[in-house]
Amino acid sequence: MKKPPLIWTNITLFATTFLGAVILVPWYGITYGYGITEWVAFVGLAFASGLSITAGYHRLWSHRTYKAHWSMRFLFALGGALALQNSALHWSSDHRVHHKHVDNNDRDPYSANMGFWYSHIGWMLREYQAQRYHDYKNVRDLQNEKIVMWQHKYYLPLLIIMNIGLPMFLGWLNGDVWAMLLMAGLLRLVVVHHCTFFINSLAHIWGKQPYTDKNTARDNGILALFTYGEGYHNFHHIFENDYRNGIRWWHYDPTKWLINAMAWTGLASQRRVTPQERIESAKLQMQLKQTQHKIQQRADYEEVLEKLHHEYELLKTHIGEYYQAKKELIEARRKQICIQQLMTRVEQLQQDLLMRKKNWKLLTANY
Ligand SMILES: [Zn+2]
Ligand SMILES: [Zn+2]
Repeated sequence: MKKPPLIWTNITLFATTFLGAVILVPWYGITYGYGITEWVAFVGLAFASGLSITAGYHRLWSHRTYKAHWSMRFLFALGGALALQNSALHWSSDHRVHHKHVDNNDRDPYSANMGFWYSHIGWMLREYQAQRYHDYKNVRDLQNEKIVMWQHKYYLPLLIIMNIGLPMFLGWLNGDVWAMLLMAGLLRLVVVHHCTFFINSLAHIWGKQPYTDKNTARDNGILALFTYGEGYHNFHHIFENDYRNGIRWWHYDPTKWLINAMAWTGLASQRRVTPQERIESAKLQMQLKQTQHKIQQRADYEEVLEKLHHEYELLKTHIGEYYQAKKELIEARRKQICIQQLMTRVEQLQQDLLMRKKNWKLLTANY
């Protein structure tokens, strides 16, 4: 089969910026050296552009997981131009197709089944999906947003201002234009490019699948460090409407923290979260599946399987009962009716549930 034509603009962009970052940046550093200001600007702009993609392009515009004040949307539009990953409109359109047709080589724009190179960068180097390139049917809601359309229309001047103008200005302030252009402009761009590209490549290859194995997405705490918290990609693909990716407090998810900080200062609202019961049920179902797979070769397979299913059903019922009682308690509190009895019941159910979970953990770990 003939390969689709090459996209020379993208090839030139990725090749020259990459070569510049590995040759020019160290050469200038060795010859003239960089100061602390350039390093601070590098880190600052890396977070500004990376978080604009994850909190703006991804969790706000692609998935609508919360609402943001116009000032933040404006900053995300500028940060998105700084990240140089196409307009928010185009990016979100691609990303919604990715979720809808994940791993389908004909439909998913960066299908992980096509391999690491393709899902990381290869998909942008050829006109693989030229027919739907300007089809924005799946982002009609975004077409009604002034800031999104403004950024889309002026994307080229914006990316030049943000990637060249801003570092030059910072360099002028600091007294070394070239050093700032290389660090806060070039190196920062290349690093953020590949870190965010990892979400499409590595986050679909490397890690665990605690919530679903219906697609290739993986949860990976190490990857989260490089992707502004988007390493918990298995969770994200099953619960894409959740504003969080790392759901535990100790999960590294600076995108979630930014959205929380925005909410506390009135710049974000209506953060959507998946009911805990659904998360636990999905996890439980996966654990059952994985354990079933592990015990396949055992001589006492039937017997163990029955035991496993018995415990599974028990735990499932307990989860349902506990969260139902919790819901009733919240409702009672809201209506300000007597809650003592309900509180005792919830506590009791919580104790039972913890016990059941312990049993389940022991049982599944044994096999
Ligand atoms: Zn997504
Ligand atoms: Zn994905």
